[in-house]
Amino acid sequence: MKLLARYLKYYKKEVIIGPIFKFTEAVFELIVPLVMAKIIDVGIKNNDTVYIYKMGGIMILLGVVGLCCALICQYLASKASQGVGTRLRNDLFKHINSLSHTEIDKVGTSSLVNRITNDVNQIQVVVAMLIRLVVRAPFLVLGATIMAMILDLKMSIIFWVCGILIALSLYFIMKKSVPLYKVIQQKLDKVGIITMENLEGVRVIRAFSKQNYEKDRFQKASEDHSNIAVRVGKLSALLNPITTAITNLGLIAIIGFGGIQVNLGNLEQGQVIAFVDYMMQILLALVVVANLVIILTKGAASIRRINEIFDMKSSIKEKSKEIIVKEDNVSKIEFKDVSFAYGDSEEYAIEDISFKIMKNEMVGIIGATGSGKSTIINLIPRFYECQKGKVLFDGVDVKEYPFNQLRKQIGVVSQKVALFTGTILENLKWANENATKEVIEKSVKIAQMEDFIKTLPDGYNTMVSQSGKNLSGGQKQRLTIARALVKEPKILILDDSSSALDFKTDKNLRNALRKNTTDMTVIAVSQRVNSIIYCDKIIVLDDGKISGIGSHDELLKNCQVYVDICLSQNVSIDEREEV
Ligand code: ADP
Ligand code: MG
Repeated sequence: MKLLARYLKYYKKEVIIGPIFKFTEAVFELIVPLVMAKIIDVGIKNNDTVYIYKMGGIMILLGVVGLCCALICQYLASKASQGVGTRLRNDLFKHINSLSHTEIDKVGTSSLVNRITNDVNQIQVVVAMLIRLVVRAPFLVLGATIMAMILDLKMSIIFWVCGILIALSLYFIMKKSVPLYKVIQQKLDKVGIITMENLEGVRVIRAFSKQNYEKDRFQKASEDHSNIAVRVGKLSALLNPITTAITNLGLIAIIGFGGIQVNLGNLEQGQVIAFVDYMMQILLALVVVANLVIILTKGAASIRRINEIFDMKSSIKEKSKEIIVKEDNVSKIEFKDVSFAYGDSEEYAIEDISFKIMKNEMVGIIGATGSGKSTIINLIPRFYECQKGKVLFDGVDVKEYPFNQLRKQIGVVSQKVALFTGTILENLKWANENATKEVIEKSVKIAQMEDFIKTLPDGYNTMVSQSGKNLSGGQKQRLTIARALVKEPKILILDDSSSALDFKTDKNLRNALRKNTTDMTVIAVSQRVNSIIYCDKIIVLDDGKISGIGSHDELLKNCQVYVDICLSQNVSIDEREEV
């Protein structure tokens, strides 16, 4: 609720004035049955047409003024709810961006998407309802009961009995259904995960002919969700018939007793009709109250889910002040006894890693999949924080840098290609808006994209569709390499970025990189010996540990793991391949 208060603060005017207008409307609504009673008891009884018209006019006036009040309230409610929703979404988005990969891994992308869309929408509805109905509905119930008491105290007992019965049934139904709303949200997250996986992996699924399997999986998650939703629906569906039945019994009682009282001369006919009107108003208001309770409980679940995100603090603390670093005479990057485990996992993904990379060196990292290559790479721009040891950048612990100072010096080409909707040029300039034409063309040339772009009818202005779906794997990889080069980073990290290239292009790329990045420190991760064979230094990883560091020739002499990798890839271990 604190969350709501924080955002409603921006809309004080709407939150205060809106309900006042709605309240006024409710007051007018309560007066209408009284006027009606007067028309019957005075106007019709005495055949006084002028009186009837006069009262009729008053009724129309009440209606029109009431409508205006309702419209104003509606306007204020929409303004406040949309405003709160937008602010909340923006803040949430900003906060998610401040989280480190560890927290994002923990919640999961699909759940985050659900929270920023579905849950925020839910809160938007709550805000609108708060302004529109929270004052009005209970006021109508109370007001109608009080008006009935003023009309006739004895008859109003019927109202009290009905009111208590309805309140009790509301209470019992809510008690059962409210806890289920949280479960519904969780099930919805599950459906979201499967939908996302399927849409992203649609080609793979088709290639493996797994459509039916995935269909079943989706159906199961979807059924899980709908089963609970139906259960809640059934419970809530009870509400209407129960309240209607009780009210109708009340109506029978009013008409029955009212009739007797009219016959006895204790009550006027018009008054009985006013009673009936009030009863109907109570019924309608109670149905609204029931819906309100549902909306508020759903909203409470959503608020909790959003608060979970806001309460998450990045496990990585950023230093705010830029630091001055002397770059001379120190290693560019150094790992000192670094160990790291993902999330709450007890097993280290990498353990006791120590190595130095000097300025402008070209270093290769090789190892089987899952040996921890990408993990090492992720620690350099501080995407994750190591649990043990230190990662030094220009001789200073990466923890001492503001993110921007550190990351602007590093160009990462990650294993998983991430491109954005836009033209090729826009994607290239994404890393550096002010890149000159020369830099862009040079980068494209190094990344072996030049010929490819030339064959495109629109050249640099060719559209890249969502996640680069209209490009081949190799084209995507080359585009991301070019993008990293456009940034002109001091350190270029290539995480398995040539895996989808054919051998010839890979070789050309390597040669171009070697020639043009003499003033860049390059770290190339690969599973292919040929991709890193020429590096000044090669780090061999095996199951999260370093099993050798050295040049190709040195490693052949003293690192069995490396020799095995070479042999398995038919790389001649006697003679260095001429590149
Ligand atoms: P490589 O890049 O050498 O193939 P990784 O560094 O990606 O290997 O993975 C090393 C180990 O860490 C693997 O066992 C993998 O299962 C695990 N791992 C990688 N990423 C994550 C993650 N985000 N959460 C949990 N475990 C992970
Ligand atoms: Mg990897």
